Amino acid sequence: MRETFLPYNLPEVGDDEAEAVLQTIRSRWITRGPLTGQFEEALSEYLGGARVVALSSCTAGLHLALLAAGIGPGDEVITTPYTFAASVNVIMHVGATPVLADIEEDTGNLDPNLAEAAITSRTRAIMPVHFAGHPADMEAFNELRDRYGVRIVEDGAHALASASQGRKVGTFGNLTAFSFYATKNLTTGEGGALVVPEAEMADRIRVLSLHGLSQNAWNRYSQKGSWHYDVKAPGFKFNMTDIEAAMGLRQLNKLDAMQNRRTALADRLSRGLAGLPVVLPTARPGVSHAWHLYPLRLRLDQLDGDRSQLIEALQDRNIGTSVHFIPIHFHSYYQSRMGWKRGQFPRAEAFFEAEVSLPLYPAMSFSDADDVAAAVRDVLTPWLR
Ligand SMILES: *Cc1c(COP(=O)(O)O)cnc(C)c1O
Repeated sequence: MRETFLPYNLPEVGDDEAEAVLQTIRSRWITRGPLTGQFEEALSEYLGGARVVALSSCTAGLHLALLAAGIGPGDEVITTPYTFAASVNVIMHVGATPVLADIEEDTGNLDPNLAEAAITSRTRAIMPVHFAGHPADMEAFNELRDRYGVRIVEDGAHALASASQGRKVGTFGNLTAFSFYATKNLTTGEGGALVVPEAEMADRIRVLSLHGLSQNAWNRYSQKGSWHYDVKAPGFKFNMTDIEAAMGLRQLNKLDAMQNRRTALADRLSRGLAGLPVVLPTARPGVSHAWHLYPLRLRLDQLDGDRSQLIEALQDRNIGTSVHFIPIHFHSYYQSRMGWKRGQFPRAEAFFEAEVSLPLYPAMSFSDADDVAAAVRDVLTPWLR
């Protein structure tokens, strides 16, 4: 057994990021300014030239995406029950109605066929979530977009560096939000970005992200700036800061290396877990998995023990874990507000009942990954039927 506790997640930040943050503080320009612009350019370059607006979070990006797309009261937005609360909350914040459709059994992503079946005359958008870093079936969703004239708003919180048929998530021609929260593949502490295909909409999103002002602080307070501004809309305070952007620039420099590390560790875990009564996470053909998560599933019909017992037993063996996700329709608020009930989305429920997210982050060693696999094997072996 491990001598020390292996945390479920640790951000890959160190002296590089500390130095960049310190430099930014010393420059005295600590809110949105030149570094945020540089970060947007660097991220855009990473995404093959996609238009990018840096924001305070992925949630802010999804919220502004829906608003800028003109989605509001009376409109329906289809999404998955297998996601974080933010995806559904933003639909409610713009006054629209969230509609859930069940997931694909293999990837945990919104099933495009079930999403199509949920389309009504009120449907204005579909929000796929690229679960764990496995891209949603964007060919199918873009076909729905073109056939039904609905928008696709992609929740890419797990999917910076995900790709399908060589195309990165963020380049499928849709509004796509990324998260740079502490646990995500690239972190700025808190932060996010929105890919906006249409130039006019990007301008509007920039304005909405900063109180609705016609120009930002850098334009007003730098030497060539002017004091005047006009309020164009009742906006939000959703901008990124230069302290965050300074971290983001350093993180982008090492993103490819971090992704290689995630891929190698995921492979190591999968080899260590082979042969157990589990479903290993895999990528469909042509897919580049970002390995944000390692969602292991138990074959419960072959085991005398369940997911919660596994989590406790791993904790006793000094291994931290998590669960992604408690289905949206299990939460009390959505049940009382939307009338959703347990039993409504059986695939999401089966995925959840069997799922445990194992530690997977670049700072782990192969020996850490081997410890995780050995601990899972140690716990499951006596449970075999
Ligand atoms: C983390 C996460 C979000 C929210 O990201 P923030 O940057 O914290 O707003 C949204 N959706 C999913 C699926 C997430 O995992």
